[in-house]
Amino acid sequence: MTLTTPIDAGSRPAADAAVRALTTAVTRVHLPGTEAYARLTATQNLATPVQPVAVVEALDATEVATTLRLAAEADVPVAVQGTGHGVTDAMTGALLVHTASLDELTVDPVLRRARIGAGVRWGAVLDAAVPHGLAPVCGSSLHVGVAGFLTGGGVGPLARSHGLSSDYVHAFEVVTGDGVVRRASRTEHPDLFWGLRGGKGALGIVTAVELDLAPVAEVYGGALWFAAEDATPVVRTWSVWADLLPTQATTSLAVLRLPDLDLVPPPLRGRTVVCVRFVWTGAPDEGEELVRAMRAVGEPLIDSVAVLPYAAIGSVHADPDDPMPTSESSFLLEDFGPEAVERFLDLVGPHVPSPQLMVEVRQLGGAVRSGDDCAFAHRDAPFSVFTAGFAMPETADLVAGDARRIAQGLAPWAREGSMPNFTTGGGSSWVERAYPAPVAARLRELSVAYDPAGVLLAARRLRG
Ligand SMILES: Cc1cc2nc3c(=O)[nH]c(=O)nc-3n(C[C@H](O)[C@H](O)[C@H](O)COP(=O)(O)OP(=O)(O)OC[C@H]3O[C@@H](n4cnc5c(N)ncnc54)[C@H](O)[C@@H]3O)c2cc1C
Repeated sequence: MTLTTPIDAGSRPAADAAVRALTTAVTRVHLPGTEAYARLTATQNLATPVQPVAVVEALDATEVATTLRLAAEADVPVAVQGTGHGVTDAMTGALLVHTASLDELTVDPVLRRARIGAGVRWGAVLDAAVPHGLAPVCGSSLHVGVAGFLTGGGVGPLARSHGLSSDYVHAFEVVTGDGVVRRASRTEHPDLFWGLRGGKGALGIVTAVELDLAPVAEVYGGALWFAAEDATPVVRTWSVWADLLPTQATTSLAVLRLPDLDLVPPPLRGRTVVCVRFVWTGAPDEGEELVRAMRAVGEPLIDSVAVLPYAAIGSVHADPDDPMPTSESSFLLEDFGPEAVERFLDLVGPHVPSPQLMVEVRQLGGAVRSGDDCAFAHRDAPFSVFTAGFAMPETADLVAGDARRIAQGLAPWAREGSMPNFTTGGGSSWVERAYPAPVAARLRELSVAYDPAGVLLAARRLRG
């Protein structure tokens, strides 16, 4: 047992009692004021700090189960965090189960399957799978955690060719809110398996994932970075071009207003640019032929589209790894045809003063539409939009207001909802945006069955 400081006299008595009980029942409990607490409560988005009453650094599923049972007895909610990339709640008054130490990772090249602890990030899975010519169907950033990503469905650079990442989950090992360790798959607790693929942490704390791997050693892909002057023809062409692409191609487009900082490559530093991302899983010469139409629009500042080892898939989006304060928003589009494109350019084109660092349109469709039913409810959405801007205390309202301006401007082409992995904010409005009413109702039923005491923090926002 490690208890790093005395219990904070200011915290709730019920929470104090739960923390005291935990210190004798699990190995590592970290309290505010300690280095471990500070490290494990760190978030990627510095504008969304978390302040749980204590952090349980779980060493195995049994410790997670013990934590959930003791917390339920004391009526203290429990949150979960692996990396801090997707925080939607401040965790005030809650206990945090941190999964960083659940770091098992094995690859079975014959079965083409990995067993991945809940604390593992995509980058580590790539390192383990790529030597076998196998690929996890991961997200754009290799810094993101596997469990958090998969419980949100997961739409990455292979989305249109290979589908939703959670379609590759063979089984979850999960501790449900009732403190029972369970295995959920298409044949074991299939209702739970349905809910874990999209339901985030509402039904349980995943401790490990068995994930099927795809036989992809390399792709033809990368990014074309165009100057602001080319923005109008690039966006117009992309919309028509993307519509014609076979499903072996996954593409997105982003307007970026990049800071004048060393972390940005010199040709892009301090500039507004339009980036077209492209990943093709067919023959490279066919991919090259397809990209010709985009290359013809203008002379890119950077053209990284080439045969790409899957190990380098993170370079396509080149998401920043360093924590920063951001204000983010997301929504779905039904259509990104000519009228929507003109409105998009009016709203976020380089001539418009906007505090957004990035406004991104991802084309979905293809294999995202297939796959079995699960709590990820947006398989048929054609496009998603994501905005992110620097949110210093003095600019946060400005950035959020600008995101609303963009969403309102594109409202004629929008559809209800947003993907769980990109849905920001907290509370019941989070649930309304992430799930259509029937999906939320089914998750609620499952939550009552698997977490009767409603101990999971995410269950509380679902059940109101
Ligand atoms: C740079 C960047 C790029 C991204 N790219 C993509 C992308 O391409 N596609 C996409 O779909 N998403 C993408 N996302 C969103 C990302 O998938 C979500 O933010 C996801 O929640 C991050 O999971 P995490 O475990 O890393 O984060 P954490 O903050 O640790 O967890 C976030 C949430 O995930 C759930 N969760 C985490 N661990 C567990 C667990 N063990 N059991 C149950 N629930 C758990 C909980 O609800 C938790 O609140 C991106 C995010 C970032 C920051």
